[in-house]
Amino acid sequence: MNKYLNMTAGPTHIKDDVLVSMAIPFENSDLDSNFYEIYKKTTVKLQQLFQTKNDCIILAGEAILGLEASIASLIEQDDKVLCIANGIFGRGFGDFAKMYGAKVTNYNSNDAYGIDVKDLAKFLEENNDFKLATVVHCDTPTAVTNNVQEICKLLTKYDILSVVDSVSAVGGEVLNVDEASIDICIGGPQKALSAPVGTTIMSISDKAYSVMNNRKTPIKGFYTNLTYFKTWYEKKWFPYTMPSSLIFALDKALDNVLNDESITKHSIIANAVRDAIMQSGLQLFAKDHNSNTVTAIYVPEQIEYKQLFDEMLKSGVMISGSLSEYEGKLFRIGHMGQNCTYERVNTALKTLDEVLRKNGVLLSEEPINKIFTRKYYNSINS
Ligand SMILES: *Cc1c(COP(=O)(O)O)cnc(C)c1O
Repeated sequence: MNKYLNMTAGPTHIKDDVLVSMAIPFENSDLDSNFYEIYKKTTVKLQQLFQTKNDCIILAGEAILGLEASIASLIEQDDKVLCIANGIFGRGFGDFAKMYGAKVTNYNSNDAYGIDVKDLAKFLEENNDFKLATVVHCDTPTAVTNNVQEICKLLTKYDILSVVDSVSAVGGEVLNVDEASIDICIGGPQKALSAPVGTTIMSISDKAYSVMNNRKTPIKGFYTNLTYFKTWYEKKWFPYTMPSSLIFALDKALDNVLNDESITKHSIIANAVRDAIMQSGLQLFAKDHNSNTVTAIYVPEQIEYKQLFDEMLKSGVMISGSLSEYEGKLFRIGHMGQNCTYERVNTALKTLDEVLRKNGVLLSEEPINKIFTRKYYNSINS
């Protein structure tokens, strides 16, 4: 029923098998004990996705709930928090911590570059008295990824808890929670997993649970209290009724991702997109650590973002803009999850090429999608 090709930064296109699984009849997820086995089965798939033996859980709320619940459950008044940020979501994480009473130290680095692990290591040598640190895996509005594997290993060295927002990365970027010792890792079903919006997926270490259970003051919140999720299986009890349809859909979407060479596929498509964008004469926002799930591009001066969006949509393709200070300056093409196919990306780039040329933007002679096609086939044949 889609009237346009959704090539945004998320929510992404949902495959029919996932949509259909939402219609699996299930009468009462609260009282039917079978539901606990169904939920458990999906969390085992999450452990595979996150590459962890840690507990994995599903919360009934969009990924922002996962971010807020982590902060609400771990932070007490005046706790010291390090906010490692090179983008809008990264800085927003620090704002959450402040909201819950933390004393936040900002470690800000240039948004156009990934966090420099060596520089961060130097900073941590002198400043490491933090209870926890927050970091974003892919800062989606600017399409820059961070090496959370190395960053979290560093944090562990100083016994700092790590809370990672991998909402728009997990499924499309390398992530190994156990190897990196990530205490809480949060993912978003509606991004690279191409499941419906409405749940948060996350992994939680025993250490994080132990910090939550040994607080001096109680957690200020019920919906955001993660300690209930430590014992759901033993007690056969969730703090609120679980959305069975969304969990069926998530389960199916996880099958699709886990049966696919997902990380490789994302990297091949993303590389070809970037090559095509640069060689056509357009400009990428990121100077390094480009995301494999989304690409952010400067809006050429010959056209306004609004017009680009409208004309693309009229031609059948929906793209994303950016947020905050980047609104109107950047546009984004998402190539994550089900959007990460040669056919979809090729169509999006062909339409982009036509709209830009029609508006007088000077581009290379070879159309953007032709460059993409050449790069794509070169890399899959090599
Ligand atoms: C999408 C996303 C979220 C969730 O935010 P929404 O604006 O509610 O979609 C959180 N973190 C990151 C990095 C995201 O890309």
